[in-house]
Amino acid sequence: MNNTAQSIYTIAYNVQIARQVYRMRLIGDTSYIETPGQFANVNIDGLFLRRPISIADSDGFGLDIIYKTVGEGTTRLSRMKTGDTLDALVGLGSGYDSKTSKRPLLIGGGVGVPPLFGLAKRFVKAGIKPKAILGFQAEEDVILASELRALGCETVVTLDANGKRVTDALPEVMGECDEYFACGPIPMLKAVFYACPLPGQLSLEARMACGLGLCQGCSSSDVRGQRICVNGPVFPKEELAW
Ligand SMILES: Cc1cc2nc3c(=O)[nH]c(=O)nc-3n(C[C@H](O)[C@H](O)[C@H](O)COP(=O)(O)OP(=O)(O)OC[C@H]3O[C@@H](n4cnc5c(N)ncnc54)[C@H](O)[C@@H]3O)c2cc1C
Repeated sequence: MNNTAQSIYTIAYNVQIARQVYRMRLIGDTSYIETPGQFANVNIDGLFLRRPISIADSDGFGLDIIYKTVGEGTTRLSRMKTGDTLDALVGLGSGYDSKTSKRPLLIGGGVGVPPLFGLAKRFVKAGIKPKAILGFQAEEDVILASELRALGCETVVTLDANGKRVTDALPEVMGECDEYFACGPIPMLKAVFYACPLPGQLSLEARMACGLGLCQGCSSSDVRGQRICVNGPVFPKEELAW
């Protein structure tokens, strides 16, 4: 297991940035966060199970999470205010290995895009500008495209509303890339897995309970029974059972 810590964070802001999508900045200890693609497991008052949310960005002062309101937990999260405190486990999961690529391609779908933003920043810090393909249902769902462009990343956005999927953009974008880094819904990841011949690292989602590898609740046949929370959520392409 990675180094994991339970910390109390103070909310600096919690703002809506797209349809049903919020960005929350949490001030507090980030010393346990090692690689982009790791996640925080946040405690929400009144709910028994914590909710896993990817770390979109982090620095010496705090971290950002970007989440979609899909149910009770994320809706309650969206109602929290500046100055409120949030209990989160951080340092969870294995993230992306950014040392394997010199010409990376980031492929994200919906609220799978946030961990790729942190990864893009890691690459840019190392002097590498990744390309990105981001897919959303419609214009009002688009997140982080302008931030990626501001980092200097060539970024293509595809919208289901225009009849385009991320895989449709692959032929024009993947040309000089040497590896892809993907996060999004399982059907999108499967489509990318079959359409893109490059080596890849894919971040999978699963319902999970403890987030610490103890309960086995997130064991997935997609990765031959491995636990998404500790063996992943990021897996190299060759470990997928598709
Ligand atoms: C490692 C990891 C990282 C994640 N990162 C993000 C992120 O950065 N941003 C974000 O918006 N979401 C992320 N998720 C998904 C997020 O955890 C769920 O949306 C959240 O737990 C839903 O909680 P809820 O109480 O609002 O909804 P619930 O009432 O628990 O569920 C509402 C609906 O969401 C579906 N759902 C719940 N959990 C998941 C899940 N894990 N995967 C797929 N569908 C689910 C349910 O089937 C149901 O239809 C991540 C999940 C994992 C495992």
